[in-house]
Amino acid sequence: MTRLHMAIPTSIEETLGLLEKCGPRAVVIAGGTDLVVELKDKLKSPKALIDIGRIPEIRGIKETEDGEVWIGALSTHAEIASSTVVKEAAPLLADACAMVGSPQIRNRGTIGGNISTASPAGDTIPALYVLEASVEIVGPKGKRVVPIESFFQGPKKSALAPSEIVLGVKFPKLGKEYVSFFRKLGQRKSLAISIVSVAFAGRCKEPGLLTDVRIALGAVAPTVVRARTVENAICNTKLDPKSLEYVSKLAFRDCVPITDVRGSLGYRQTMACNLLYEGLLEMGRVQKA
Ligand SMILES: Cc1cc2nc3c(=O)[nH]c(=O)nc-3n(C[C@H](O)[C@H](O)[C@H](O)COP(=O)(O)OP(=O)(O)OC[C@H]3O[C@@H](n4cnc5c(N)ncnc54)[C@H](O)[C@@H]3O)c2cc1C
Repeated sequence: MTRLHMAIPTSIEETLGLLEKCGPRAVVIAGGTDLVVELKDKLKSPKALIDIGRIPEIRGIKETEDGEVWIGALSTHAEIASSTVVKEAAPLLADACAMVGSPQIRNRGTIGGNISTASPAGDTIPALYVLEASVEIVGPKGKRVVPIESFFQGPKKSALAPSEIVLGVKFPKLGKEYVSFFRKLGQRKSLAISIVSVAFAGRCKEPGLLTDVRIALGAVAPTVVRARTVENAICNTKLDPKSLEYVSKLAFRDCVPITDVRGSLGYRQTMACNLLYEGLLEMGRVQKA
């Protein structure tokens, strides 16, 4: 049996010291919902685990002095889904967290773990793209802030160095004039990794007319992608249901999916367009009501 050492630091400095001392033999663990599966499947075989769960500085959700929202890396999906601050400033992120896994997974899994895993199917990521969030990172050379789109470099590849940890994410609030949604398609309604997901936000100054449109698609490319072709087509254009259907199909151009056990390339492309169309139609209905 292989011995696995465990360290439980209580500060960022202690964590960075341990990461430097152990090098690639050590790996950080937060909620463990991704990592424990990887250890069990022998996809990772570290000699030591560094449990960051007792570092107070990376816990919590707050409004910052510059009017943004900061979410500590250790915030669980359940905490984010029920946070009044997030529900008001970024309802699509609260919705995305509410759709992760099951109550048990949402109670353990953290936002820091979700983005550090860097899966194109991670459910918080499309919402964070739409919110134009930044990732706060700390390492031996100090703190740095990386725009969310630059953080991801491919499936399970990120800008995070092995000696660094994620402190949290930060984003500007969506104003009162913004409408937004998050939708995902899984093999069933809960405990399902996304086959496709869509996050949307847009500024609606008058009914049916949107500006500052932001759309992100999950699980349709090596990283989450912004659907800029559709964004441009929707922005500043009054659309009826027929033209909305046409415009949603343009999402196809921003997808470069793969075929895997969860869905084929063609299915993913079609469903990305359908999910977006369904979300836009539903949003229009809610606005009229
Ligand atoms: C049954 C099941 C269902 C799931 N369903 C979903 C789902 O519907 N949607 C979804 O998006 N995900 C889902 N997941 C995946 C997982 O729950 C999430 O990605 C979760 O947010 C991971 O967080 P964690 O704290 O558990 O990460 P951990 O497992 O602790 O860590 C994951 C990785 O991130 C690294 N890490 C963690 N925190 C940090 C940090 N602060 N700084 C640097 N590195 C860090 C670890 O070293 C590890 O490599 C599911 C998992 C399971 C087992």
